[in-house]
Amino acid sequence: MPTVIAHLDIDAFYASVELLRRPELRGRPVIVSGDGPRAVVTTASYEARKFGVGSAMPTRRALRLCPDAVLIPPDFGAYRAASEVVMRLVRGTVDEVEVMGLDEAYLDLGGLLSPRAAMRRLVTEIRAATGLDASVGIGPNKLIAKVASDAEKPRGFVVLTREQACARFAGHPPRLVPGIGGKTAERLEVLGITTLAALAAADPGLLAEHFGPRQGPWLVARGRFEGEESLQAVREAVSESRESTFDVDIAGPAELDAQLQRLADQLCRGLQKHDRTGRTIAIKVRLDDWTTVTRARTIAHPTNAVEHVGQIAAELLREYAPPRPVRLLGVRVASFGGVEEPPAQTAQLALPV
Ligand SMILES: [Mg+2]
Repeated sequence: MPTVIAHLDIDAFYASVELLRRPELRGRPVIVSGDGPRAVVTTASYEARKFGVGSAMPTRRALRLCPDAVLIPPDFGAYRAASEVVMRLVRGTVDEVEVMGLDEAYLDLGGLLSPRAAMRRLVTEIRAATGLDASVGIGPNKLIAKVASDAEKPRGFVVLTREQACARFAGHPPRLVPGIGGKTAERLEVLGITTLAALAAADPGLLAEHFGPRQGPWLVARGRFEGEESLQAVREAVSESRESTFDVDIAGPAELDAQLQRLADQLCRGLQKHDRTGRTIAIKVRLDDWTTVTRARTIAHPTNAVEHVGQIAAELLREYAPPRPVRLLGVRVASFGGVEEPPAQTAQLALPV
């Protein structure tokens, strides 16, 4: 059986959930964002995107581009509720699912007689149950599925073989491919590689000289749309976190600790509400120069008690002792029940926050 993987992605998820409960805003540019001076856009509706507004853009800049945009504060409870409905339908379609976030998942369609029909049906079911539109990409690996689902948003439905993906995106910049960021793209450009076709044709040995023996050949493989053909089937969300970016950088340990406890309190309340506990507690610290550091510790027994989580988070922060003012702070609890790690990893575990 050949590998067939689909990537499903809800279109403008947060903004679409908001529009469902505020139909009077339909057709208007909507931006979901906090409103502090450092707030960033979490999602923009397609009407706002026409003005050049995009995710992760500073909200102030977004409002300069699109002064008539309606600013809506994020309501993660509502997004989580919508996500649960979507993911239940996703899991009802196939056994093997890799959930990538609240609104994104990979599905292994390998066992299905008619993968396209199954995905069309899923999109219809999601629309009927939630009112949300989704885009779908289908291909022989995760990379192709992901790029295909992005290619014709909103309501895209794109099926590609590897050869078709190479041909279709040949003239696109390497940044189109997930995993190739701005810095890497700049370094490729120095080598004269400005398109995916050029990347695919590049000498892996040459790129190894510039990017190292692992990343060099990996980049060429990405350019050729070679990617993972199996899913990491995580059956439940494995972690939950809270973080905030401060309006003004914080340098004092007492204030940092107070902010950390506030985040731990919010996080634990959320965990308690969903009856989730975890054994790994992590912090994320971003300094004013954008250095981002994570520290984690795994304890013997799962917890969602703010006393435990707050205390361990505070210890981790004290041990790290931020050398510069702090711009962003986050707390995470991971390793939920049912996704236990082997005992060998109980001592200390660094995990991406
Ligand atoms: Mg999405």
